[in-house]
Amino acid sequence: MAARFPVALVGVGKIARDQHIPAIAADPDFELVAAVSRNATIEGVPGFTDLDTFLADGPPAAVALCVPPEARTAMALKALAAGRDVLLEKPPAATLGEVDLMVAAARETGAVLFATWHSRFAPAVAEAKAWLAARHPRAVSIVWKEDVRRWHPKQAWIWQPGGFGVFDPGINALSLLTEILPGPFVVDRARLVVPENCETPIAADFAMTAAQGFPVSVELDWRQEGPQIWDITVETDRGRLDLSLGGAAMAVDGRETSRAPDREYPLIYRRFADLLGARESEVDASPLRIIADAFLVGRRETTEPFFD
Ligand code: NAP
Repeated sequence: MAARFPVALVGVGKIARDQHIPAIAADPDFELVAAVSRNATIEGVPGFTDLDTFLADGPPAAVALCVPPEARTAMALKALAAGRDVLLEKPPAATLGEVDLMVAAARETGAVLFATWHSRFAPAVAEAKAWLAARHPRAVSIVWKEDVRRWHPKQAWIWQPGGFGVFDPGINALSLLTEILPGPFVVDRARLVVPENCETPIAADFAMTAAQGFPVSVELDWRQEGPQIWDITVETDRGRLDLSLGGAAMAVDGRETSRAPDREYPLIYRRFADLLGARESEVDASPLRIIADAFLVGRRETTEPFFD
């Protein structure tokens, strides 16, 4: 029996291969019916070298846009104008204005637009949110330190305008923050550390204040070797929450309460199936807004050049 939702992958790079292809293959509601890529092919899947040709000649299918943010909005607008449902990798776009454009286009055509935040599907996130809902936060600390060479090998786009630099992984932390605690969050000050041969930061730290008054400190660094750190700590009136491993594990007052294997992308496609079934869109730009504000108030520091 044919799957309920045919889907085409656009941009066949690291995340498409690591996560989207296996998640689609494992989900009986979806079938990968096309790959749109300038350079790559997926065995057994019809290929198109550009989106225009796919939209004109390809099978009817939703599109999952796995290209970098700088290229994504133009593609999303074309797909939406052609009446296709669209899944966006994170971050949803290079600017907030682009997000508004896509939301308006989806509304106009009646297409489903799903701006994914994969970290929000990490196993301990729902439990952390529920635990925090019954408490008053006093302070939040986010430490996100990873090795750019391991996660973004030879990706020139991340160092160019619109490429986000260390905010590419950092926005995952902010997608968790804005999921587990009510905002908005105001960026008070930021320091952006930019290699002298790059346009985007390799490290950043910034301080925010939540609407409820508690402080949030954020430390992002892409120069981390050895163990990778993706931790959020929330001090509350009744105990400390540690959400670690990017949301896969949770501890209360130092005692682990849950830890489970990663199923972020299978759950993304489950959510997409629900949205397609209900003909509803889901777009939350709040993590992108924090990044935009950090760029607005940030003080830029130049550091030694980065070579991949
Ligand atoms: P990537 O390996 O560089 O792949 C992106 C693909 O997009 C390229 O292979 C290229 O594929 C296509 N593309 C189309 N227009 C492009 C342009 N103007 N510049 C560069 N590539 C273009 O990047 P990625 O790591 O998969 O990241 C893609 C998105 O996924 C990003 O938004 C990133 O934040 C998100 N993401 C990445 C990870 C990760 O671990 N790397 C994890 C979660 C989310 P073709 O040659 O096929 O056209």
